[in-house]
Formats: sequence, C-alpha cells, structure tokens
Amino acid sequence: MDDHQTQLKNINRRTVLNYIRKHTHATKAGLASATGFTFAAVKKILDELENQGLVRFACIEKKAVGRNSAMYEINPDFGYMISLYMNRKEIHVAVVNLGRKIVARRRIPMENRCLSQKELVEQLLSSVQEVMEEAGAPREKYIGVGIGVPGPIDMEQGMVLTPPNMPMLHYLPLRDILQSRLGLPVYLHKDTNVIALGEFWNEEGRGSESLFYLDVDMGIGSGMITNGKINAGAEGKAGEFGHVTIDLNGPVCKCGNRGCLEAMASGIAVLRDFRTELEKHPEHPLYPRRECLEIDNLAQAYREKDMIAVPIINRAAFYVGIGVANVINLLDPEKVVLGGLFLRDFESSYEIITNVAVQRMMKKGNGRNIVKSQLGADAGVIGCAEVVIDRFFQEAVNGIWAKN
Ligand SMILES: [Zn+2]
Repeated sequence: MDDHQTQLKNINRRTVLNYIRKHTHATKAGLASATGFTFAAVKKILDELENQGLVRFACIEKKAVGRNSAMYEINPDFGYMISLYMNRKEIHVAVVNLGRKIVARRRIPMENRCLSQKELVEQLLSSVQEVMEEAGAPREKYIGVGIGVPGPIDMEQGMVLTPPNMPMLHYLPLRDILQSRLGLPVYLHKDTNVIALGEFWNEEGRGSESLFYLDVDMGIGSGMITNGKINAGAEGKAGEFGHVTIDLNGPVCKCGNRGCLEAMASGIAVLRDFRTELEKHPEHPLYPRRECLEIDNLAQAYREKDMIAVPIINRAAFYVGIGVANVINLLDPEKVVLGGLFLRDFESSYEIITNVAVQRMMKKGNGRNIVKSQLGADAGVIGCAEVVIDRFFQEAVNGIWAKN
C-alpha cells in the first residue's frame, strides 16, 4: 500500500476512534451517520480496531422501536499513562488507563520543602515504580507520562521555572530527566491547563469544543481549551487570569501591580481581609488567633455565618463574577468551569459568581454554561493522563497501525 493510502486509512481509523472516545459509546449505525462512511466501511474499521484490542464491545443498546444494536467503546486496558500532578499541598503520582480511570496512586506530601532536586527526582521515580507495580500492567502497555506543575513553566524546554513556595522545582528540567529515566514520552504543562483538559474530557465538558477553567484557590489561575486543545499562548504563559486588573487602586498583588483579581479575591486575599477586619473587633472569638489564621478557620467562620467572614467572601465572589463576565465577553467559551478551594469551602459563592457574571455579560444567557468542577481534586491527575491520551488518539496510534 502506498503512503497516501495508508495515511487516508489512518485518518478514517482515527475518525472512528475519536468519535467513540468523544461519545463514550457508539453503534455502527451511529458511526456511519456521524462520519459519512458506509455501514460496511464502519464495520471493517471496527473489526480491525477490535482485533487490535483498541475498541471492544460494550453492551447492547435496547431500542423501543427497531432492532437492538451493539455498542462499542474504547478498550480501557489497551494502554496506561503515568500522571504526575503537583500542587502546593502534595504530588500525586498515578497510573491512569485509557478509559480515564485512576488505577493506582501515591501521594507525596509537600511538607518537606527542603528536598534537594536530586532527592525529589528519586522520590518521584520510586513512587512511579510503586504505582506501576500496583497497577500490574505490562510495561509495554505504557504510552507516556503527563506532568502538571504550578507555573510559570518553559514549555519548549520542558522546564519548571519558579513556582512560589516550591524551591526544589526551580529551573528543574523535569521533562528530559523523566524521559531519559523512564524511556517514555513525557509532556509537561501548567497545572491549570491540565485541569482544564481533564474537565473538558469529563462528562460535563465533553459536548463542548471550548472551555475556560478558573481556579480560585489560595492563588487564582486559569486554563483554556480551544477546539479541544490546550491553548497555552505564544510562549506557554497564558492562563494568568489572577493578574487581570479589577481595581486600579486595589491592594498590591504579589506580582507588584495593584488590584489584580488574585489580590482581591483569592484565598490569600480573603484571609488578609479577614485578619484586617478582626483587628477592629477584639471581642471576636478569633481575635486572639488573628496572626496565625488558616483558610480553614475562615471557612469554619463562614459556615457559622460569621458577621465578619460572610461579607468578605461575598465581596470576593462578586469580583470573581466580574472576572467570569470578562472572560465570557472576551472569549465566549462554550463552558466555564469553576474549581479550587473557594467553591468548595464557600458554598454560596457559586451563586453570587454566576449572578454577577450573567448581569455583566453581553450575550443573553442564564449562566447554565458556568459550572462547578465535577472532578474536583482528581481533575489534575486525570488531566495529566488526558494530555498523553490526546496525543495517542491524534497521532501516536498511527505507530500501532504501522506495526500491523
Ligand atoms: Zn498580580
């Protein structure tokens, strides 16, 4: 077969595979009508994919009218990914299968911030070894490694730059080190971008082509998916939504500017405001502990409808709502996903954010496309694997066919 024919055949195979991937299950008739291929062509491709183990029979679709038909799905055990997702609290090292399921996981707490880079790398590698053993899949089934790290990063060099509070990651060429030690392709992305991809492929986001993820945690960051791909910007530095200006005269941000969204509405900002207000209220039960408050204290006070805590959180949610309206007016993504501790710990913030955003957006809408993260803490782990899975279905799968 000449090159041209092979290429065409691979495109058709990938079309079928990606349709099944996007819809979780597909029938032959459904595939034929969605792809425009004849029923016979779909059957031939499916037979081939089934023989190679990439696709498998899932169940019988029961219809009220007409014949019942067989449903196909991606075989989750065809391949495995290693996920390394790092946040300020811990590193998750996991094995995820092609069906996006976490099959084994270790958590490395980040308490020990004094680790040397060498110690960190060795710890990562031994955790990888452990999760691979626990997953029990043969080594040749591993497709690649996805890493999500706090920014900033140098995408081209595959290097973490200078994330705050994580000195052992500074200028660490993690991609190349792991690539050579594990002998697998490694992809490194900023944490919020992998979360966005994880959310995109989750049930909630699956119908959409574009998604904006806004992480309101101790800091504020964002990730953008355009046409199903991570949109990291010209130099991989996009997604610094925490540093859009909300108030020209606002408080000074860690970046040096004034009134950034992060300085107005992040966990750090609300904690700062809470402390400042407490100074004026010596009668408050938390007054004696005002210097060493944690975000959990604020969350607790908020749940108890504390007179100082509630307005601070509501105001911060208002600012986040303005931020969301700005995103929608600028980019009009099909879906905005909100995640991070803010949404988790301050329950009514979601409603405020959505209401403010709806009031301020130019397009008419009810805010139904602004949703809470469905994956929560697992979004990053699954997102790291999804980076590898996506490469596999778009490109790397050709290598499997070349061998057959
Ligand atoms: Zn800033």
